[in-house]
Amino acid sequence: MSDKVVGPVDAIIIGAGVIGAAVGYELAKKGWKTLNIDKNPVAGYGSTSASCAIIRVHYSTYDGTALAYEGFKYWENFRDYLEAAPDENLAKFVQCGCMVYKVDANNKMETIIARARDLGVPFDEWTPEQIKEHLPFVDTSRFTPARALDDPDFGNKAGGEIYGAVHFPTAGYVNDPQLSAQNIAAAAERKGGRFLYNAAVAEILQEDGRAVGVKLSDGTEIRAKVVVNVAGPHSSKINDMAGVTDGFNIKTAALKQEVSHVPAPPGFDYEKLGYVISDSDISVYSRPEQGNHVLIGSEDPECDPRIFVDPDDWDDSFTDQWKVQVYRQAQRYPTLPVTTPVRGVTALYDASDDWIPIYDKTDLPGFYVAIGTSGNQYKNAPVAGKLMAHLIEACEAGHDHDADPLDFHLENIGRTVSLGFYSRRREINTESSMSVLG
Ligand SMILES: Cc1cc2nc3c(=O)[nH]c(=O)nc-3n(C[C@H](O)[C@H](O)[C@H](O)COP(=O)(O)OP(=O)(O)OC[C@H]3O[C@@H](n4cnc5c(N)ncnc54)[C@H](O)[C@@H]3O)c2cc1C
Repeated sequence: MSDKVVGPVDAIIIGAGVIGAAVGYELAKKGWKTLNIDKNPVAGYGSTSASCAIIRVHYSTYDGTALAYEGFKYWENFRDYLEAAPDENLAKFVQCGCMVYKVDANNKMETIIARARDLGVPFDEWTPEQIKEHLPFVDTSRFTPARALDDPDFGNKAGGEIYGAVHFPTAGYVNDPQLSAQNIAAAAERKGGRFLYNAAVAEILQEDGRAVGVKLSDGTEIRAKVVVNVAGPHSSKINDMAGVTDGFNIKTAALKQEVSHVPAPPGFDYEKLGYVISDSDISVYSRPEQGNHVLIGSEDPECDPRIFVDPDDWDDSFTDQWKVQVYRQAQRYPTLPVTTPVRGVTALYDASDDWIPIYDKTDLPGFYVAIGTSGNQYKNAPVAGKLMAHLIEACEAGHDHDADPLDFHLENIGRTVSLGFYSRRREINTESSMSVLG
């Protein structure tokens, strides 16, 4: 194995998902000799491949919104970001727009609208009648709260109507998340970055209180100045290997998720005319999917079980969760065909305690993390790559990021944010929705 890694390595990045590849790309652009190591055979084969890849531009926190809007700009100009040739086959950003229902659960969108205004994120507001003009099959009744399937009140209306919706025209989704990670990996390789696949990291090498490399499961040792944990749902295992877990106030864990795919309501070209939708009244999110399907995910209501698993030993079969998400969606779309066999994906989030990621150094000098992405950081991968490269360079140059959190400039939207927001030592952020919405 070691003969594949010729020459010195400055940075080992554990993981070649969309964020790991982006960290490699940005460090390589800065002249670092990078090596992404992944136990999978190609880039983007981990949780990235199962991502719904929704690029929304709204969050409940200022920092969340700023990063998402900055991230959207990279997806909008993906080829430029990658410096890719005109004929290179790239994943496509489908800018279908996003509609978020105004409901009690999101305070009629008041906070999110204020954040969007602060940051110049375009949006318009729709009445229930306007929603039906765009999506004629929608039932605008209130159903809240989301209920378990065995609840006798499942499907009952709560009385009254949702308040309307906010439409964000710049939002959308990426049609092939795995390809997008491979595109970023290829861009990193053009900058001299290297990728080692089918290689599992088994140990973090340390000397004199510093991370100095990794040992692979076949015994190969690879040394580097810094090691970055971007291992997705395996992040807590890698932190345990490095012995840094106790220094984290916010922990991460692998959380099972199911995403359902069903045909769209009949007679409507959903693939062309549908939106990314967040419907917190029924606790589902959705988007158009190939083959005129609706892709339906969960906004994690309290009545649903949260299934934390060992990412190396979990049951990836569908459960009743697949069905409950579809039935909830059918409350809003009464003509939604509920077909079998079940189609969709099961996958793992790397969920953090407050559903906000951890982009940080650790108590072990030379060991960094981009983890806890909680089902909502695909959109931010290009920005995460950039901010991690900034953070690693500053810390390696002697900056004490814990005592004096670094600022990071968002070049596309002209705003500056504090990276202290993503600290491993933060208190749980109570502005978070404590769900995939972040
Ligand atoms: C079902 C689902 C839906 C989602 N939907 C959205 C969405 O709509 N919008 C959004 O913004 N985000 C979404 N996300 C989140 C987003 O997809 C993730 O945050 C993102 O893909 C994480 O990328 P990553 O590179 O950090 O991790 P991953 O893609 O998980 O990559 C980690 C890599 O580390 C490797 N690895 C782990 N351990 C080792 C080891 N010991 N040695 C070597 N390699 C190792 C793995 O093989 C893997 O390839 C979703 C996630 C899921 C699961």
